[in-house]
Amino acid sequence: MRLKLGLLGIGKIARDQHIPALMSSSQFELVACASRNASVDGVANFSDLETMLARAPQLDCVSICTPPQAHFAAALAALRAGKHVMLEKPPTATTRQIALLADEAARRGRTLFQTWHSRFAASVDAAREWVRGRTLTGGRIIWKEDVHHWHPGQQWIWEPGGFGVFDPGINALSVLTEVLENDVCVEAAVLEFPENQQAPIAANLRMRTEDGVSVNAEFDFRQKGEQSWDIELFTTTGRLKLSQGGAALELDDQVISADRGLAGEYPRLYARFAALCTEAKSEVDWRPFQLVADAFLIGERRVVAPHHV
Ligand code: NAP
Repeated sequence: MRLKLGLLGIGKIARDQHIPALMSSSQFELVACASRNASVDGVANFSDLETMLARAPQLDCVSICTPPQAHFAAALAALRAGKHVMLEKPPTATTRQIALLADEAARRGRTLFQTWHSRFAASVDAAREWVRGRTLTGGRIIWKEDVHHWHPGQQWIWEPGGFGVFDPGINALSVLTEVLENDVCVEAAVLEFPENQQAPIAANLRMRTEDGVSVNAEFDFRQKGEQSWDIELFTTTGRLKLSQGGAALELDDQVISADRGLAGEYPRLYARFAALCTEAKSEVDWRPFQLVADAFLIGERRVVAPHHV
């Protein structure tokens, strides 16, 4: 029998990825949506989560697609109502909140799937296989995109808890922490804040692995033309380049996969969620989030030109 799912927050990612993945899933049935200003044809629609939980008691699970500032309260309410929960990235607005959600899920024997969709990109598994067992000598991340194109009209991203350029940047860090054998820590960071916004538009991170290998990252929301979502890793026995956000892979300049875009990521995410629900297990990894929080803690802040949403 298919798991009955309610979707919260019908915005860009819900429409671009979640709804198509759910519509073609043999493991989930999208039965209800909750959104203040939007609705989805063919399912029960409610204006908020509380009403959906009360009026659609048959739901097995809730998938949360709101901005991160709204994740904690929603996930807590859904877990307390006995639902399994899938959470979009970034996990929550503060690091303590995701820890509390993990505790709540464990206490109630429910699944909390705190997702990192980029880890499900087509070439990430192959990259991890290649990197493990090799000796890393360095790494470089270039993650630069046009915020106007990818986050049209989204004011929440510039508000406290909205992450600014770390909203996409955290995807790179999720892939990095997935493929590397050793953990990384932030050593130094520079964060550029538009003078009229409360979140960074660009950031440079200097990180180092436990073994002292340097990995640097450049995040920028002002990219025009070709967009870059690239991770390069250098080892004593060759070089790896993941591009297209983890979809495409080159090993020593040889193209292994030329995939593009998000295709397949969300169907794989939902397949993973179904497996976790069946066993009532959780999957939570807040290391990428800690790296971002640490960059905010120790980063040098620079004020740059205003940015208009
Ligand atoms: P979005 O287009 O702004 O949609 C989010 C929806 O959540 C809004 O349309 C809004 O619908 C609802 N919402 C509930 N509480 C809200 C609040 N406090 N502020 C603003 N909206 C609120 O955002 P999105 O791009 O879909 O991103 C949502 C989440 O998905 C974020 O965590 C983001 O990082 C993640 N994500 C986004 C992308 C992408 O390409 N955009 C890709 C992967 C992951 P109502 O007004 O109808 O309630």
